[in-house]
Amino acid sequence: MTLRVWDYLPEFAEEREEILSAVETVFSSGQLILGKSVRGFEEEFAAYHGLAHCVGVDNGTNAIKLGLQALGVGPGDEVITVSNTAAPTVVAIDSLGARPVFVDVGEDDYLMDTAQVTDVITSRTKALLPVHLYGQCVDMAPLRGLAAEHGLRILEDCAQAHGARHQGQLSGTMSDAAAFSFYPTKVLGAYGDGGGVVTSEDEVSRRLRRLRFYGMEDHYYTLETPAHNSRLDEVQAEILRRKLTRLDDYVAGRRAVAQRYAEGLGDTDLVLPRTVPGNEHVYYVYVVRHPERDRIIEELKNYSISLNISYPWPVHTMTGFAHLGYTKGDLPITEKLAGEIFSLPMYPSLGRERQDRVIDAVREVLARI
Ligand SMILES: *Cc1c(COP(=O)(O)O)cnc(C)c1O
Repeated sequence: MTLRVWDYLPEFAEEREEILSAVETVFSSGQLILGKSVRGFEEEFAAYHGLAHCVGVDNGTNAIKLGLQALGVGPGDEVITVSNTAAPTVVAIDSLGARPVFVDVGEDDYLMDTAQVTDVITSRTKALLPVHLYGQCVDMAPLRGLAAEHGLRILEDCAQAHGARHQGQLSGTMSDAAAFSFYPTKVLGAYGDGGGVVTSEDEVSRRLRRLRFYGMEDHYYTLETPAHNSRLDEVQAEILRRKLTRLDDYVAGRRAVAQRYAEGLGDTDLVLPRTVPGNEHVYYVYVVRHPERDRIIEELKNYSISLNISYPWPVHTMTGFAHLGYTKGDLPITEKLAGEIFSLPMYPSLGRERQDRVIDAVREVLARI
C-alpha cells in the first residue's frame, strides 16, 4: 500500500469515539450554527494563547483576509509578505483589492528575510504578513520595530505553526492579530474546513464578528461594511475543542518523528530542516532539500512512497498573479528552493514502521544518485 505523505486514518482509528461523540454532541444540542461549540472553542483557543479573543471562521484563507480587513487593510493598500508560501496567503491579500508585495526568504530557514522588508516599505504599506512556514516562526522583533516606526499593522499567518514558539512566545501572540487554518492536514486539524483569528484587541475582535456574519452588528442590523458569511461550523468547532486538549501531544509526536528522521538521514547529503536558534519547531511538514529532487521523487515511487512539494511554484511566478508585475528572477532564493525542496511523510501517528520504510527507501535511492 502506498505510504502517503499525510494521512488522518491512523489518527481517526485512535480517536474515533471522541470524534463521533463530538458530532453527537452538536447534533443533539438544538443549535447547529454559532452555538455552544463555536463559543467554547473560541474561548479555549484564545485561552491557550493567553489572548482575549478568538473568532472562528470558515477556513484559513478567510481568517487571513478578514484578519487583514479587521486591521484596516483595504483596496490599494500594500501588504508585505513572502512568495514562498501557500497561495492562499497571497489570495487573501489580493481578494481585498490590496497589493501583495514580496520579499525573499532565507536560504537556511526558508522564512521571510526580515532585513529586506525596509526596502519595500512605501507610503501605501499598511501591514506586514509574516508566514510561520513549515512549523517555525519568523523572527518578529525586527518586524515589530518596523511596524512601530512606520505605523504598520502585523498579522501572523499561523496556518502551519499551531503551538510553535519563538523565544518562548507562542506563534500568534507576537503581533496585532494572527490567522489560523484548521484544514485537516494542519497541526491542529478539523474533519473538514475551519479557521480562526486570535487577537488581544477588543475592536479588532468586534469587527471580525461582524465580518464573518454579513457585516451584522447584532442579529439583524448591518452597521458599517456589508460582508459575506464566513462562519466556523459548529461540528468542526466541537471536534477542534476535543483535539485542542491534545495539541501539545500532536506537537510532541511530530517532534519525535522529526528526531528519528534526523537520526536516520543525518549522515546523507539531504539537507534536513534547520531549527532557527530560539525557535521550537512543530514540523507541520518535514521539508528536505536536494539538487536531484525530481529524480529522488521519481525513484521513490518504486517504493510506493508518495512525497509532496511545498511549494513547487513560487506564487509570484504563477500566471494568476501576473497582474502583480513580478517576473522570474525577482526572488532568487525562493525560486531556487522551489526546484530543490520536497517533504517526507509527517504526521504524529506515522509510527515507527512506516517511518523506517521511508528512511530505508530514501537511503537506498540516495546511494544510487
Ligand atoms: C493552509 C494554509 C492557508 C489556508 O488555509 P485554508 O484553511 O486551506 O484556507 C493559508 N496560509 C498557509 C501558510 C497555509 O498553509
